[in-house]
Order: sequence, then C-alpha cells, then structure tokens
Amino acid sequence: MFLKPYQTLLKALGPSQWWPGDTAFEVMVGAILTQNTSWRNVEKAIHRLKSLQALRPKKMHLMPHPDLAEAIRSSGYFNQKARTLHNYLDWYSSYSYSPSLLLRKKASRAEPIRKELLSIKGIGPETADSILCYALELPVFVVDAYTHRWLARYDSAAARASAGSYDLLKNMVQSDFQAHLAPDSLVQHFNEFHALIVRLGNAYCKKQNPLCPDCPLRRECENALA
Ligand code: SF4
Repeated sequence: MFLKPYQTLLKALGPSQWWPGDTAFEVMVGAILTQNTSWRNVEKAIHRLKSLQALRPKKMHLMPHPDLAEAIRSSGYFNQKARTLHNYLDWYSSYSYSPSLLLRKKASRAEPIRKELLSIKGIGPETADSILCYALELPVFVVDAYTHRWLARYDSAAARASAGSYDLLKNMVQSDFQAHLAPDSLVQHFNEFHALIVRLGNAYCKKQNPLCPDCPLRRECENALA
C-alpha cells in the first residue's frame, strides 16, 4: 500500500536529493542535531562547525564539551546534543571514524550497526535509522512524526495496524517495498520516500489544517475523499 503514495508523490514533487551534506560525517552530525528542531537551525550549527573546521570527527572528538555546545547552540538542547555527539564519537572512534571500515566490519548489515547505535546514549530509532540510510546508505526506512500523521489521515486501517509503533510502521514500509522493488534499488527508494513524506508534511499535510485541495495525494487519501 505504500508504493502508490510513493509513486504519486515522486511524480508530483520530483526527487528530493536527500540528505544535504558534503560527507558521511556531516550527515551523521546533522541527524543528531536535527532532533527536536528545524533544519534551518541545524544548518546554522553546521555552518558554525565548518567555520571552526570542526566538522571532522577527530577534531570534534577532541573539542571540550563547552566549546562544542557553544558551536551548536543554534540547534537547541545544545548541552545534551554536545554530549550525544561526544558519545557518538566515542563509538565511532572504535571504527577509526571510517564509514567504510564500519561497513566492512559489519558486513554492510544494518541490524548489527543499528543495535550498536541504539546503545549510544542520546541516539533513538529515528536518528539511528537516519544515519543508516543517509550516511551509510543502507536499505533502511526512517519513520518520524510526519509519517505517523500522514498515515493516520491517508489510510486509517494501516495506521491502526502500525499501532503508533516506530518499528511496526518501519517494517510495514520495508516489507512492502522489498516485495515489489529490486533489492539493489531499496536504499534509494527508502531515502526518497522518507524525504517526500517530510516535504508533504511541511507543504500540505500540516499538523493543523492540512491543505488537502492542493495536495498531490488528494485523489487517493482517505481524509481528502471522506
Ligand atoms: S490529502 Fe490532505 S490529509 Fe491526505 S495526505 Fe494530503 S494533506 Fe494530508
């Protein structure tokens, strides 16, 4: 059931080309900083880190906590996020800060890496999956509040089946795509579908007063057709 809205959104909105970031590490940092804030605030923090030449794992790892917190102040919850970044870097350093070494050691399997990511204080399922999908380019779908909100309106039965559970909804999307799409294309499709849902949520399927008459999904969405 997820393929149809995916294809409709892709046709209407075009490719998203996510995630913005020049390096895998920049994407990892962005995934941590974007917790509970807007992307605009994350961009300011990323810009500040770049100006300090601190968007390098070793350099950031050596930064004293107050300096790192100050550099990412614009992203909100900066003390907590600085601690999470240092916790993340403690873990990442065990792979020599190298995405390729990490992938090699884990045979490019998402689950063992996800398990380790979730054991890092401050990293939850959405952040872990964002790192897996967008920084490490593994076939993992990212669920967020936009996804739950959209599904509750688009297909209430599917939303009930997912029971508000992150993992259930993620597995529903992944199983559907895995059943219909080529295995080597899944990374790109999971990447794109999540990005499209975020764009949909920002532009049309807003928290209050969704803009159904203009929405690309209006001809197939339960809420719009009711
Ligand atoms: S038609 Fe309305 S409720 Fe359905 S996805 Fe679009 S904005 Fe959301």
